[in-house]
Amino acid sequence: MPQIVFDKVEKHFGTLQVLPPLDLSLDDGEFTVLVGPSGCGKSTTLRILAGLETLSAGEIYFDGSPISNLEPKDRDIAMVFQDYALYPHMNIARNMSFALRLQRVAKAEIDTKVQKVAEMLNIAHLLHRKPAELSGGQRQRVAMGRALVRDAGTFLFDEPLSNLDAKLRAKMRTELAEMRDSIDKNMVYVTHDQVEAMTLGDRIVVMNNGVIQQQGTPEELFKQPVNKFVAGFIGSPT
Ligand code: ADP
Ligand code: MG
Repeated sequence: MPQIVFDKVEKHFGTLQVLPPLDLSLDDGEFTVLVGPSGCGKSTTLRILAGLETLSAGEIYFDGSPISNLEPKDRDIAMVFQDYALYPHMNIARNMSFALRLQRVAKAEIDTKVQKVAEMLNIAHLLHRKPAELSGGQRQRVAMGRALVRDAGTFLFDEPLSNLDAKLRAKMRTELAEMRDSIDKNMVYVTHDQVEAMTLGDRIVVMNNGVIQQQGTPEELFKQPVNKFVAGFIGSPT
């Protein structure tokens, strides 16, 4: 698990500056939640980390080595997207094993890994179905499973629960909290949902307009918000 450091990372889309110089450290084995209102730059931050978007200035370091020239596949990162992006023509087992098959991992090893992750996520009975035969919650589990079968040191989640209804979201939140405790990896979880942030984060990073307002444990943010934005967003008494 690498320690990840953003060093004065900037992102511009044309004249729109989404990230002013951003400094951020993500420590080994931590579950960090990046929370902030819609449009504040959370997805952009994750996408730059995963290599799906270039940075305009600055650098990101993994254990002291710069990574901005590395292809996404060479970054030891697996990402779970908001919209699932499952392959409709492949069954669940093949969806989950897609990256491993690309890496030419041996079939026996792939089967073992897929089975293990599928059991953890309660989808082992669905491995032979197609995505269209699954519910939204089941599809979301598959999307997570597809990332988790990869032995990446860092997992990124971009609002993975936002397409689920409120009841299912609450259930998945609890399951994610259990999963968090059983997996010793770097996890960066992006959400605009304060409850998710407060439930899941070992550490919470509050962002607004690309600027980090405060970082701390849920308790620190709740008890000692540094400004009105954080207080209002986290729901602290003021
Ligand atoms: P969040 O994930 O916090 O909702 P994003 O990182 O997706 O925010 O977006 C931050 C800002 O960058 C928004 O104003 C968005 O419209 C803009 N943006 C994101 N991606 C692009 C893009 N590819 N081209 C132009 N503007 C973009
Ligand atoms: Mg987003």
